[in-house]
Formats: sequence, structure tokens, C-alpha cells
Amino acid sequence: MRALIIGLYLLLVIASGVPGSTSQTPQQNKQIVIAAGTVLDGKGGVLHNTRIVVEGSKIVRIDPNAAPVNYDLRGLTVLPGWIDSHVHITWSFGPDGKNAGAGGTTPYATYAAAANAWATLMAGFTTVQSVGSPTDLPLRDAIARGALPGPRILSSAEPLLGRGEQSGTPDEIRAFVRKQKEAGADLIKIFAAGSPRSPQMLLSQEQLNAACDEAKKLGLRTLVHAYKDAVRAAVLAGCTQIEHGPLATDDDLKLMVQRGVWLDPQAGLVMENYLLNKDRFAGTPGYPEEVFPMIKEMIPEFHSFFKQALKIPGLKIVFGSDAVAGSHGRNAEEFIDRVRDGGADPMAAMVSANSLSAEALGMGNQLGSIATGFEADIIALDGDPLKDITAVRRVVFVMKGGVVYKHAPR
Ligand SMILES: [Zn+2]
Repeated sequence: MRALIIGLYLLLVIASGVPGSTSQTPQQNKQIVIAAGTVLDGKGGVLHNTRIVVEGSKIVRIDPNAAPVNYDLRGLTVLPGWIDSHVHITWSFGPDGKNAGAGGTTPYATYAAAANAWATLMAGFTTVQSVGSPTDLPLRDAIARGALPGPRILSSAEPLLGRGEQSGTPDEIRAFVRKQKEAGADLIKIFAAGSPRSPQMLLSQEQLNAACDEAKKLGLRTLVHAYKDAVRAAVLAGCTQIEHGPLATDDDLKLMVQRGVWLDPQAGLVMENYLLNKDRFAGTPGYPEEVFPMIKEMIPEFHSFFKQALKIPGLKIVFGSDAVAGSHGRNAEEFIDRVRDGGADPMAAMVSANSLSAEALGMGNQLGSIATGFEADIIALDGDPLKDITAVRRVVFVMKGGVVYKHAPR
């Protein structure tokens, strides 16, 4: 009898938690503690020898004394998961190995898109903005409900393709924008110009005004593919962000600063990828054989535009790789191009894909920083990107929304 009472007493003590003991309550068990020697906080700051405490999908505190440690990432560089503001996540090569574009709906294309998402997440990109195909939408939704691993996706659904008069009247353009919103678009993508070799405007000022104004009314951002004159026209139309941008003048870029318009220039990956995978692109729609020497010539022009943009005080330059087939999972090469060939400061390059890109998405208080209350999107690099930018190729840890997807052995 006495033994039974003691037994009951012990059970009660254990169940209620022994004060001062190291046993964990279920609440504490939900915590994940990451020990880090060096943390880039996403805003340009560096923390040393601290611990990041994650509960559910969020960072709940930064506490050097938090214990027990679940992931010891000392010796690595820890930073917020990167944001790529411009990808084409469903763009893949087909079963014949050739460029198949982004619009495929076959089972093969669908699995290829899921594989792109996985590769992108494994490369440290926990959020991407995919601009140019409605095939993004089911992939975005499957990842969001946890059915597939991949980065958080924001999608433009179908883009507005500038085709001059054929693009429609301002009212028709407004209706097109509303249709994308109804289809679930997170933003609107607009093709307002050709290419650097034929940069003519494909939409009039009036048409651009209609597109960006209607989007603004619906609470949607507008990303405008623009070169030369189309850059200024898009800024005057009140659009949110310029993609690419070469042939814009310093005055155009200064106007962007005045109007708070973001710039997403590319410093190499997209062109290098076409050359690297030339056999797979050549002869497919939009990629005649004769375009490849031109692509090669354009690389230094993109570098010099990047350098021109860096010199404009206050210009907000976000990170966007323009990843297509062949680049998914290699998005970080664009960091190397920006630093090595474009003259970007390595810390600025990191921030451009963290807090700055988060701000450009309108998610600056949720993503892109390692701080209390932010989404637990945390990656670690084997190396220090501030000293050697090629460390961005060595992503050894990936957590997105508090879930660990990669923890490579050291
Ligand atoms: Zn693109």
C-alpha cells in the first residue's frame, strides 16, 4: 500500500515536472535551438556566438544561452534564406533534353517543375518570385500546403505581353490585370520592351499607365521587363519594379530613386546559362542559332549596366537571377557575377537577397532577417561569403518556416 502511494506520488511529480530538473515540457520540446558562430542578420549586421531559437515557423528569440542545442552550425556562416525576385520556376528541359519553356502541362513537365523547386530550395533559396507562367500556381499551392518541398513561391500568373496596339485598349488591359488577380496572382508581370538588341517599347505610355494603375488599385505590385525608354515609361506609370534595365540613362535611374521604384538587374547567370546549355536552347522557339554570339557580347554590357546602377545613390537593387531551365539550383551564381564582375560589395549582395528583396515583396516584416518574430528561414554556408563569394555555392543547411530540409554532414 505504502509502495503504491509512493509510486503514485512519483508519477504525479514526474507528470507535473520536477522544479530545477532538466526534463522538458512539451512546450519546450517544440523549440529548435541553432548555435551559430557567425550570423549575417540579413540587414547588414553581423552577430557572433549566439543561438537562434525557433518555435513553430518563427524565430522566437536570439539568446546566446538557449539550450539544448539541436543544430550546431558554429564554423559556418548563418544567414536568412535567400529570396530570388525573378525566376521561372516551371521552365525546364523536355524529355528530348531541349528547352521546353515554362508552360508545359504534361506529367513530365510537372515533375520537372517540382524538381526545379527542390533544387532551388536545396540551393538556399527559401522564397522565389516566379514571373511569367500560370503553371506556377498549382506548384505554389502544393508547396504552401506542405505537400511538396520547395521555396515559398509568389507568382504573376499570366504575364501581360506587350504587343503594341494588339495588347488592347487601356480598359482591356485593366480587365486582363483583374483576371490575373482572380486567377490568384500575387503580382503582375509586364513585358514592356523587346531585348537589349531591339529595345523598342512594346506598350505605349497609356497602356502601361492602365496596367500599373489597375494593379495598384487591386493591391498588386508590378514587375516590368524593360530596357531603354521603357524604363522611364514604367516609372512614370507608377509601376513597382524594373526587371533587367540596360540602356536606361542615369537620369532614368535617378527618377527611380525619386519614385521609390526597385531595380532588378542581372549580372551574368541568365546569359552564361544560355551559353552553357547552348545545345539545349539552340533551335527552340526564341533561340535561333544566330542569337548565341549576341548573348555572349551582351554579358559585358550587363556588367557595365550593373556598375552604372551601383553608382546611383539610393537606388534599391534587389536580387533576381532570372533562372530558367538549367539555372534552377544555381541561382547563387548570380551573386558571384554581381560581386566578381559587377563590383557589388559582398554584404550588399547578401542583403539584396535578404531584407531588401523581402521589402520589395512587401514582406519586409516577415522574411529576410534573422530577428525575433521573423519566419524561420535560415541557411548556412560552409565558408564566409564576405571574404570569398564562392561560398554561396556551399549551402549545407536549409530551414524554411521552421522545417529543416537540408543538414549536410560537415
Ligand atoms: Zn525572366
